[in-house]
Amino acid sequence: MALVNEHFLKLPGSYLFSDIAQKVKAFQVTHPNKRLIRLGIGDVTQPLPAASIEAMHKAVDELSKAETFHGYGPEQGYDFLIEAIIKHDYAARGITLSPSEVFVSDGAKSDTGNIGEILRHDNSIGVTDPVYPVYVDSNVMCGRSGDLQADGKWSNVTYLPCTAENNFIPAIPDKRIDILYLCYPNNPTGTTLTKSELKKWVDYALANDTIIFFDAAYEAYIREDDVPHSIYEIKGAKRCAIEFRSFSKTAGFTGVRCGYTVVPKEVTAATLTGERVPLNKLWNRRQCTKFNGTSYITQRGAEAIYTPEGQAQVKATIDYYMENARIMREGLTESGLKVYGGVNAPYIWLKTPDNLSSWKFFDQLLYEANIVSTPGVGFGPSGEGYLRLTAFGKREDCIEAMKRIRAWL
Ligand code: PLP
Repeated sequence: MALVNEHFLKLPGSYLFSDIAQKVKAFQVTHPNKRLIRLGIGDVTQPLPAASIEAMHKAVDELSKAETFHGYGPEQGYDFLIEAIIKHDYAARGITLSPSEVFVSDGAKSDTGNIGEILRHDNSIGVTDPVYPVYVDSNVMCGRSGDLQADGKWSNVTYLPCTAENNFIPAIPDKRIDILYLCYPNNPTGTTLTKSELKKWVDYALANDTIIFFDAAYEAYIREDDVPHSIYEIKGAKRCAIEFRSFSKTAGFTGVRCGYTVVPKEVTAATLTGERVPLNKLWNRRQCTKFNGTSYITQRGAEAIYTPEGQAQVKATIDYYMENARIMREGLTESGLKVYGGVNAPYIWLKTPDNLSSWKFFDQLLYEANIVSTPGVGFGPSGEGYLRLTAFGKREDCIEAMKRIRAWL
């Protein structure tokens, strides 16, 4: 008899976005003539950069001839892409990496979800709260999160609340944590840490022998100078941090799929007998066994974003989304709402008025203004009393949404 991995059974059955979809469907059935504006799910709406499209067409043509055909590529990614990543994303910021420290993948969701495999199941974990759900759920699946309690928290997870009360800056815990997930710029709150705030976490990790999983999927949206683009801008981080990046929100690759993970050679973890093992070696082994590389076409498309044309096109799209964010921030503030984020990230984190619950305000926004949002509580207990809106929509929809909210409130 095959036995199931019972940890999977601990995961709550319904998923946030399917709950939202059901509510939206019910609304549409009862209000067939209302036009909904969707500012809920974090998918992009603008097309890929022209430079990527051109490079991918060219790559397809190469595959059509035996002389230029590419079959299986290196599991870690092609050198041409890894070199472009190192040059533009790291060397340009004074960070030195060797090619064997960069692992190209099909996106940051897979990597942040899979990385835990190279560490023992009984490590303790810490997450900021609210949080991108993949970090917690992937740890539930291997038994590391413990059990779900009545307060919506997992028994073996340390939650670091990020709310308006602490200006969304998590407090350093007074106990040690083995594995810490940080995501900056943050999904869902859209907030960031300054260099000196992030340095406190790197110092904590070095002092406590903690591994930091640093998700920088929204790095391209940073506008302010004092916000680090990479955790390796902080001294000592190469000894304690693994960084995840994605082409999804940077260059519209949500459907094409490409990201990468940096595992510096200096990052190690211990065996029970105290031997130190480099995590680079383990992640390489894991990827070579379970991953067969990102497609050649995709990697050529990703490489093209680093050309001068590609950089200009990516910047124009990000500017478009960030102008949406500005319009939304201003519109919501004028309507008397309290908003956070949206300055270095494509997410606006909205405090519900009159201490309404997240779901109650979600329903009101849906029925009164016909706008779809995401209830903050879906991202963790500290998200209660907040809503997330994304700036990935079309300009005219953002403007119309603000008009509707102003008229309603
Ligand atoms: N990390 C964060 C914080 C995200 O918000 C997302 C997507 O929404 C991802 C990772 C997933 O990125 P990818 O499309 O590269 O899998």
